[in-house]
Amino acid sequence: MNTEQDQTEAPAAPSAASGARPSWVTDELIGRWCAWVHHDEARQGRGAADPVTALAPYDLSPIAPVPACDPADVDSAAGVARAAQHEWSRTPLARRAEIVLAFHDLLLERQDQVLDLIQWETGKARYHAWQEVAQVAAVARHYARRARRYLGTRRVRGMIPGLTKVEEVRRPKGVVGVISPWNYPLYLGVGDVLPALLAGNAVVSKADPQAALTMLWTRALLHEAGLPVDLWQVVAGDGAVVGSAVVDAVDFVCFTGSTATGRVVAERAAGRLTGSSLELGGKNPLIVRADADIAAAAAGTVVAAFANTGQMCIHIERVHVHEKVYEAFREELLRATQALVLGRTFDYSADVGSLVSPAQLETVRAHVDDAVSKGATVLTGGRARPDIGPLFYDPTVLEGVTPDMDVCGKETFGPVVSLYSFATDDEALRMANQGSYGLSASIWSRDTREAARMAGLIRAGSVNVNDGAAAAAGSVEAGMGGMGDSGLGRRHGAEGIRKYTESQTVAVQRLMPLGPAPKQSVQDFVRRTNGQMALMRRLRVR
Ligand code: NAD
Repeated sequence: MNTEQDQTEAPAAPSAASGARPSWVTDELIGRWCAWVHHDEARQGRGAADPVTALAPYDLSPIAPVPACDPADVDSAAGVARAAQHEWSRTPLARRAEIVLAFHDLLLERQDQVLDLIQWETGKARYHAWQEVAQVAAVARHYARRARRYLGTRRVRGMIPGLTKVEEVRRPKGVVGVISPWNYPLYLGVGDVLPALLAGNAVVSKADPQAALTMLWTRALLHEAGLPVDLWQVVAGDGAVVGSAVVDAVDFVCFTGSTATGRVVAERAAGRLTGSSLELGGKNPLIVRADADIAAAAAGTVVAAFANTGQMCIHIERVHVHEKVYEAFREELLRATQALVLGRTFDYSADVGSLVSPAQLETVRAHVDDAVSKGATVLTGGRARPDIGPLFYDPTVLEGVTPDMDVCGKETFGPVVSLYSFATDDEALRMANQGSYGLSASIWSRDTREAARMAGLIRAGSVNVNDGAAAAAGSVEAGMGGMGDSGLGRRHGAEGIRKYTESQTVAVQRLMPLGPAPKQSVQDFVRRTNGQMALMRRLRVR
């Protein structure tokens, strides 16, 4: 366990201009970050699992071997975390909030470092990496300021008003397991951890093998901000082995990832009667009504479809356009898509970055090829860009997509969007509600009141009007999550912190017992109580 204070204080050297490894990242720094991966001190003769080395998407060069854990390491991490949680749950909330705000400030101050790491590990454009910083800062500020309100004790009416004093109190779950994917390693890696810590829990996080360094850097930063050393444990390695062990070892699981893995996690947690929240996949629709501002809708679609190279759970993959404005919208959309700059620079000059892995590139290629072979038309894009980097793919717009094509209903998770036309709002709603996902949706219309009404008819956890995805997701006071196959539970808002607590009812009975008084017969007690209940009904007592 590394307890030094300066693990993220790297020299302010310029970032690599292109290629993969940022120039300031030394082997020594990597070694210090990797020391945060928990290992069972009782390991003794037991051999360590093989380290995992991810490949940098920009050039497929090896990033760095990150130590891997086995289930015994995870058990040990949970044990150490549990021991630390006892003291932490007694630490005043104001002190916990102070640490989170100190982390907020350090993150903004050192953001260039983490932006470099995120780009190195995921290949995304710098602006999309910066959005992670902005989102984590918003979550940190929000919960540090609002935790007291969300977690405050609630006084409720007792069984006998005046005589039964009842309070509902929030108690931490204990140890929370956070399992997150590679696509937003900072935001999903720490954004769900902060409210868990503020609520008085310890956390065991499973780093995604593709983006472990980002999480370890963040772990070091939170330590520097004042978090007690054992309270947040990071484990790393294979998802099926280490992730399963996390589910088995904790008191609540916050999982973000694919729907397929989410089901496995939910079943495993349910077997132990452990609660879980599941933030899963999507196939998110965007509706352009006939009265929409077409230029704004096209610009918004480009942002929402190609953000994070389309590897964002809430990004748009289906665009439904009213037939009256279809041609005009298509023209604007193609113009804006073709203007996007692809690049692998560690500055803000590229609009769209790389895909994360050969597997992700293969899915994108397969979806587009399948659609084309079944009769779809590529309006723009539709090809890999090895001239820019091994995993780059042009932002792609398809037309003529039919239900037999994979791209129609399956999550592509890449820079591909399909255009469909509709004649009436009812038809648009029916199309938007197709499929089993229900994560996010978008409606573009000058009539925002009507669009908001339509939102109520869309099965999705978030609906944005005149914005593609960010308005809801960035409003961290409101819940974010999915319906149907897109998940269970919410992050952000009240639910995003209360899910990490158990509600406990504390009832204090005063003056007289509940039940017959001494010397009173049961019959008399029942008769009087029946009369009181009838009276309460007449007096409209709740
Ligand atoms: P994934 O399900 O393959 O992996 C997610 C995490 O789970 C990784 O850390 C992985 O190592 C771990 N894991 C794998 N098998 C496990 C198991 N059996 N038990 C426990 N943990 C296990 O997902 P991915 O492909 O890395 O991520 C992309 C998916 O995540 C997409 O479907 C995307 O839509 C979804 N996603 C959803 C949200 C959201 O908020 N709804 C956000 C981001 C990504």
